[in-house]
Amino acid sequence: MLRGESRLENLGKEIGLPYRQVKAVGAAGLETVEDLLLYLPFRYEDRRRFETLSGLVVDGPPATLSVVVASTKLIRTRRRGFSIFEAMLEDESGKRRAVWYNQPFLARVIKEDDRLLVFCRASKGRYKDPILENPDYEKLDDEADETERGIHTGRIVPVYRKLGTLTSKALRHMVHRVLDSLDADGLPDRVPDEIRRRAGVWGRGRAIRQIHFPDADTPMLRLDDHSTEAQRALAFEEAFLLQAALRLRQIGVCERKRGIAYEVTDALRGRLARLLPFKLTDAQKRVLQEIGADLRRPHPMHRLLQGDVGSGKTIVAFLALLVAVDNGFQGALMAPTEILAEQHFRNLHKLLADSELDVEIVFVSGSLKAAGRRAARAKIADGVARLVVGTHALFVEGLEFQNLGLAVIDEQHRFGVRQRAALTGKGGEPDLLVMTATPIPRSLALTLYGDLDISVIDELPPGRTPIRTVVRLEEDRPKVLEGIASQIAEGRQVYIVVPRVEEDDRSELKAVEATARELRRGPLGKVSIATLHGRMAADEKDEVMTAFRDGTTEILVATTVIEVGVDVPNATVMVVEHAERFGLSQLHQLRGRVGRGSSRSFCVLMVGGDHPGVEARERLSIMAETQDGFRIAERDLQIRGPGAVFGTQQHGASDLQFLADILRAPELLETARREARALVDREGGEQETQDLLDGLSPIWHKRLELGSVG
Ligand code: ADP
Ligand code: MG
Repeated sequence: MLRGESRLENLGKEIGLPYRQVKAVGAAGLETVEDLLLYLPFRYEDRRRFETLSGLVVDGPPATLSVVVASTKLIRTRRRGFSIFEAMLEDESGKRRAVWYNQPFLARVIKEDDRLLVFCRASKGRYKDPILENPDYEKLDDEADETERGIHTGRIVPVYRKLGTLTSKALRHMVHRVLDSLDADGLPDRVPDEIRRRAGVWGRGRAIRQIHFPDADTPMLRLDDHSTEAQRALAFEEAFLLQAALRLRQIGVCERKRGIAYEVTDALRGRLARLLPFKLTDAQKRVLQEIGADLRRPHPMHRLLQGDVGSGKTIVAFLALLVAVDNGFQGALMAPTEILAEQHFRNLHKLLADSELDVEIVFVSGSLKAAGRRAARAKIADGVARLVVGTHALFVEGLEFQNLGLAVIDEQHRFGVRQRAALTGKGGEPDLLVMTATPIPRSLALTLYGDLDISVIDELPPGRTPIRTVVRLEEDRPKVLEGIASQIAEGRQVYIVVPRVEEDDRSELKAVEATARELRRGPLGKVSIATLHGRMAADEKDEVMTAFRDGTTEILVATTVIEVGVDVPNATVMVVEHAERFGLSQLHQLRGRVGRGSSRSFCVLMVGGDHPGVEARERLSIMAETQDGFRIAERDLQIRGPGAVFGTQQHGASDLQFLADILRAPELLETARREARALVDREGGEQETQDLLDGLSPIWHKRLELGSVG
């Protein structure tokens, strides 16, 4: 008997589907009947309107027609390989010619006297009468009675994205057959009944059937909201399973395990307070308290620190690291780029330089020469190095810590799960603090980081003046250059960022060099201009960055290598070329490079090309409206989906579809989270949840892994 868990491979035999189709579905990664059924339509077409052949008007709305084939003809044109299949269709109102181009096999499928349902609009052909071009058709059996609605016509039909070689029509047919042959409880509920009732969502059998083939009286569906009960039910199920998996993981990773219980004495508090070059904001204090409480508990900390660009996360991380060091453990700080790691290293040095704390800091990056690397390695292994700052070189094979107590990962969205695991795997059970300036809406944070505790710095340090943001066109360039010149005359510095044209370092280099050359030729010819891009060697980058930090260079033309974290308070202008090619969140990050001092700063978003799209300008205008990273991220998410906000490198399209579904129903997500936690945390709940998750197909496990991109 066919059930949701049945493997698709067996399906062909059981219900007589073409082997080729079953194989194509399998090749796309769908393994079970349920995997197939959760391949959801991306839109629907309303084919409920029936019309007669003579009632169908040229270029009018499309309709479904019930017809008989009066005659057929296959015409091969002289141009090689081109063919037209013609069928004269007939109903009680009259006759119309239907034509299909380049589908000669139809001559074997559609025969005289066949009864067909066709869906199409009429167009003006070469003949006097209107014709039907490439109509969607389906054959009705001889036994089919008049009430039969068809699969592809006469109803609201699902439209699927092509899956490998399978067309929407083939998929529709397959899904229909599968649904037909599923037995009554072939799609049992995952979500326990009581929970489902409390949440007020449909059972999954009903939801899945309705999402593919909605009842005839259903109002027209839209997949882009969760207005229908079917969509709500599936979104709830996804969210529930994900939250249950995250809760289990959280228990396994933190609460079950013994970690380090640090002591935070008053003496230590005093020493740290005297280090501070400024007064902490209330948000920084609150977050430090949350982190402090975690550090004192005897379980490993797994905490995400979120805070908008420039909100002052670094100092919080430094203080946490110093708690670990004071307790006799090593601390590690990992940053995604060399430039950023190096900046952290300097700042830590500066902070500790004339303090009463004597802490040896070691820098590790891929660009260290062999001897330097050996020396650093030795210091880390024998514990001379108390703090280690570096890039992902920190978690390469062979780097051993003496006793790693706390690992901090900056700008964590640049790293993957494996890297996080690799770093924490370096010690017994080190505490972990991951930081991100990609402000994520709560819904996304709960989805992606449900196994982390979350702290938020929601306040900027005082004295910042808002950044004036403008959208400018090519024709405004002379004015923009004037503006730049006047800022430089006042002693300020300028970033100009160019997008990567392709995934090709060479073109990146060309774009950067070309922009710099252009500038040198223009009115800014006398200004000191440097370039920075991904193809440069680390020490070259370093030199350029140092010159810019010291103010020797006035304009820095760069790719997005400077996107994260770089802190040069004297820089007051950020010009982004081809801003329309960037996501809003990324632009927000770029803008965050300026406005770090007390002088007025500017962000100029240049829209490229001669015919900038209205849409692009509208999208960019949100940047001018707000500097709230969370609002911007939310808009970005709405416009471009989670893939764009997160980068697609670690996820497949179907994973992201899954995420998007959950994210569109934030209130369901909250309920799902509460219920899932309650289930896991109750007596025997862990085992129960584990069993539930173990029963899921592999595709689900891949999806549930999503919850750990941090
Ligand atoms: P981000 O959260 O983006 O990593 P940083 O930690 O780099 O931000 O901080 C941005 C700038 O603000 C730095 O120059 C830092 O020294 C400064 N800063 C941080 N906290 C405060 C504060 N409480 N008062 C004044 N300046 C601060
Ligand atoms: Mg930072």
